[in-house]
Order: sequence, then C-alpha cells, then structure tokens
Amino acid sequence: MTRDVDVLILGAGINGAGLFRDLCEQGLTCVIADKADFGSGTSAAPSRLIHGGIKYLETGEFRLVAQSTLERNLLLQNAPHCVTPLATVIPIFSWFRGIPAALRTLFGATTAPRARGAVLIKAGLAIYDFYGRRHRVMPRHALWSRAQALQAIPPMTPRIVAAGTYYDAKISNPERLVLELVLDGLRASPASQALNHAELTDAKGGIVTLRAHDSTLHTLRPRIVVNAAGPWIDQVNARLGAPSKLIGGTKGSHILLDHPDLIRALDGRMIYFEADDGRICLVFDYLGRALVGSTDIRAADPDTVACDEPEIGYFLQSLRSLLPGLGFDESQIVYAYSGIRPLPNADGIAPGLISRDHSAPVAEPEGDRPWPIVSLVGGKWTTFRGFAEEVADTILSRFDTPRLISTRHLPIGGGRDFPADPARWAKEAARMSGATHVRAGALLLRYGSRALPILQAEGSAPVPLPDADAWSEQEIGWLLHSERVVQLADLVMRRTSLAVTGHLSRAGLHRIAVLAASILGWDEDRTRDEIAATTKLLAERHRLTLA
Ligand SMILES: Cc1cc2nc3c(=O)[nH]c(=O)nc-3n(C[C@H](O)[C@H](O)[C@H](O)COP(=O)(O)OP(=O)(O)OC[C@H]3O[C@@H](n4cnc5c(N)ncnc54)[C@H](O)[C@@H]3O)c2cc1C
Repeated sequence: MTRDVDVLILGAGINGAGLFRDLCEQGLTCVIADKADFGSGTSAAPSRLIHGGIKYLETGEFRLVAQSTLERNLLLQNAPHCVTPLATVIPIFSWFRGIPAALRTLFGATTAPRARGAVLIKAGLAIYDFYGRRHRVMPRHALWSRAQALQAIPPMTPRIVAAGTYYDAKISNPERLVLELVLDGLRASPASQALNHAELTDAKGGIVTLRAHDSTLHTLRPRIVVNAAGPWIDQVNARLGAPSKLIGGTKGSHILLDHPDLIRALDGRMIYFEADDGRICLVFDYLGRALVGSTDIRAADPDTVACDEPEIGYFLQSLRSLLPGLGFDESQIVYAYSGIRPLPNADGIAPGLISRDHSAPVAEPEGDRPWPIVSLVGGKWTTFRGFAEEVADTILSRFDTPRLISTRHLPIGGGRDFPADPARWAKEAARMSGATHVRAGALLLRYGSRALPILQAEGSAPVPLPDADAWSEQEIGWLLHSERVVQLADLVMRRTSLAVTGHLSRAGLHRIAVLAASILGWDEDRTRDEIAATTKLLAERHRLTLA
C-alpha cells in the first residue's frame, strides 16, 4: 500500500538525521532511509572535532566560523555525554611568517599560507574567541612561551618559538549521536519511520519505492524529497530522475595509534599543527588511542574509500617531525578510516580551500515528478543543527506550517536529563542497580542518561566480553534490543567504539555474533556470513586484523 508522507529523507548521516529530528519535532510525518547503516558514511569518518573551524578564518569564511562556534557551544550543552571541551595547542615555528600569504588567501588567492607565525596565530585566536562568545562555556586563548610549551609537552620539537592555546571540543561517539537524533525524531513523531539498510529502488510517477533489508517494499508518496546522501548526492539525484553535479568531494583519512607515551604527553590536549608541507594536522587522545589526521585529496568513490600507504607514511613522518622525543611506526596503528567530504563542486580550487559552508539547492517538480528535491550539500558535522534548522524552515514555509519547537536548546539522546553532578548521579545509579559507581560513571559517559537500563541489566555482575572487559554482554544485549542493529558491523563499528579503538578480537567478535544471533534470530549460516563480512571489512578498509 502506498503511504503518504510529508518528507522523505534519503541518507541518514548527520545532516539527514539532524533534519529528521527537527521536522519530526514540528509534527511532520517523515521517513528517513539509508542504503547502509545510520551514520555509516562520511559522518563516521570525521576528525571527531566539534569545532568553530579556526582555519576557515584564513579563507575569510567568517559566517561559517560564527555559526560553527555557536553550534559547538550549544552541543556542549545539548550532548554533554558525547561532546566535551578539548584544550588545544598550536606549535608556532616563527614570529612573523605567513602574514602576506594570509592576506592574499583572505582576498581570494587560491593558495594557502605554508607557514603561520605567532603574530598571525595570535590575531586568529583573538578573532576566534570573539566569534565564540555566544553561549561560551570554555576559557579564552593564551600564548605560551617556548619554555612553557616544552615543559607542558616535553617530546615536542625544540624548533618551536612559542605555542598558542585555546579550547574547542571533541565528540566521543559521532556514530551514536546520529542514531540518537533518529531515535529522538521517532519519539517526537511516532508515525514517522526510520529505515537503515534500505535501498532506493525506484522513483516513478511521484511514488518512491524502497527495499528494506528484510526485502519488504515500502512505497511512499512524499510531498518533498530531501537528498541527504552526502558524497552520494549526485548518484541519488540521478536515480530520482534529476541528474546533478553538485559534489566535488575530497578524501580525508585518519589513523589511531596504541601509544601510551604519546597519550601521556598529550595529557588530554590536542596538538593542532602544521605538517612540513604546510597542511594542518591534528593529534589527540580519543578514548585512550591517539587519533591522527587528516589528509585532503581529490577522490570520488565513497563506497571504496580507504586510508592508503602514502597517507600513513605522511602521518608518521609528520608526527616524527613534531614529536622527535617519541618513536612512531606502523605497528602502533590499531585502526584507520577514510571518508569523502561532500564538498560543493569547485573545479580548479585547491582542496584545502574549497568552502566548508553548506547550501540546499532545490530541483523544482518536473515532468512526472510532482515533488521538489532539496539536496543538502556540504556542511560540517558541527553545524548540522543550524543547517537542519534552515532547511526545516524552508520546508515548513512551503507547507505553510509554523515552527513549533526550536532545537537550539533541545538536548539530544542521552544528553536529556544529563546530571549536573555526574559523580552524584553515578553513586545514586550504583545504589539503584547494584553496579559499582566507577562502572556507572563510565556508562554515563558512553550513553548519558540512557545508561540506567544497562546498569540495571548488568546489576552487580556485568559479564565482560572476551578481550574487551570495558564492555559487557548485558550492554551488547541492550544495544541489540534497542538500537536498530541489522548487521554485525553496525554493532561493533557504530553502536560501540569496539572497532575504532582496536579493542575487538576474534573471540570478542564471535561472542558478539552469538549474542546477536540469539536476539535477532540469525541462523548458523547468517551468523557465519556476518562474522566473515565484518572481518573482511575491518581488514580491507580499516587495517584491523582480528587476533
Ligand atoms: C576527513 C574528514 C574530517 C572531517 N572532520 C570534521 C570534524 O572534525 N568536524 C566537523 O564538524 N566536520 C568534519 N568533517 C565533515 C563532516 O564529517 C561531514 O560534513 C558530514 O559528516 C557530512 O554528513 P552528511 O550527512 O552530509 O553525509 P554522510 O554522512 O555521508 O551521509 C550520507 C548518507 O547517505 C547514504 N546514502 C548514500 N546513497 C544512498 C541511497 N541511494 N539511498 C539512501 N541512502 C543513501 C549513505 O549511506 C550515508 O549514510 C570531516 C569530513 C572528513 C571527510
């Protein structure tokens, strides 16, 4: 039976999920569908920063910096279980370099400065603080002397002349926050629907057909279609019968290192540094691993993108040059990932200078297609809420419907009812569930206020997973019951951080597969296929060979 819906959103990355939540909160009936898992595209491949984008000052994108710093400050309040402050250090190698080049870039030159001196960085940090003043919750910037910087981070190269320090934010589980937005949308609008692993098969005569993972066909008659397919946008528009050339993506990769000495030296800070070729790189403590990124290379195919050898060589060499007091080699890599930035098509501009701002071009109804298609182009992870708000307002005005709720101060998922005093919450949750307060505190950071039912399921006897005792069987069971897992990879790569932190072993994967089989009803063949597919994916695309 064909179902009438207000909005069909194709693509459940951060932009699709953010818009889904917003529209559902306004009382519209929406369907969001992703050909893979929620949050499995570019939204699973960022640097995991929620940041104002200090480097966009260089390209004069002041509007984007103003919006990003505001959204960063709001996310610190709305998703405190996932988004936390990140002290950042910028090593500086000269006092005055880069000023003429920065002025040229600001006024539209197509090359970026290769070196940024202390004067330039000090000016940039002051402007950044100015833009980040709305809803500020973090300290302002400072300039460290060389001696202060080397005392704080002893393995850093003595070539520095000073260091800038400021605060941005990091996100501990971007994949989970995408899912939490989808679940929040469903909570606000129970008539809406969210489908992962659902293929767009047909769009004719105003009717769109989707095939779900269990082969069920969903036929929908939407009033508006939103194409939120990120780097796949042009492919999806072609399938909808409205060919476009909106995207000119670039590939960016990251690696995660098992490196306790580096983690100790970082002491919770990020180093945001210029590599020898002038590109900006970063390294910080991500859930106990050192996350290093990123590259910016023209690339097109988001289905096969992976971090390659030259990128790994580049990262390791950049780290050796920045931190000569520490050793780096490939054996320390526990995981690697890559994604395509869905940037606007911009031929002839250096990848690092293509605008990171967003836009939402509309293909108006044409031929036998009665609905407009709104494509969500570009945008940053950080700015999803503002982007969603702009697009939702456009859709609401087309429907002549008022906005009911602002999402500006709306908590997300486990950020709802997040305790002002986490230690007290942990004590109380431990008392109610029988868990230790240390376990309660750890799960609060992972799931926010949604941790309570997991703690209650674990009680005083969490059963640890093989080779990953920070995760329990009861926790996996709860995720399987409540978080729309379809494939084994959904669970180990996105509902949990087991894969990205390299805490997954062969025995662990098998145990999780057995739990999934019992809860999702997989037979032996399906269980074996899931284990094989996940093992292959992790080895081929993420350099994670299970021991
Ligand atoms: C290397 C790198 C580092 C970055 N770092 C940061 C950072 O630190 N901070 C920040 O704010 N931003 C960062 N970004 C930017 C940010 O990650 C992206 O802008 C954002 O994730 C894009 O989200 P999206 O929802 O538009 O696309 P995606 O997340 O790619 O979502 C698109 C979805 O569409 C689905 N899809 C594809 N085809 C179909 C189809 N036919 N039918 C249905 N669904 C389909 C895909 O499966 C996918 O899930 C970074 C990006 C990269 C690549």
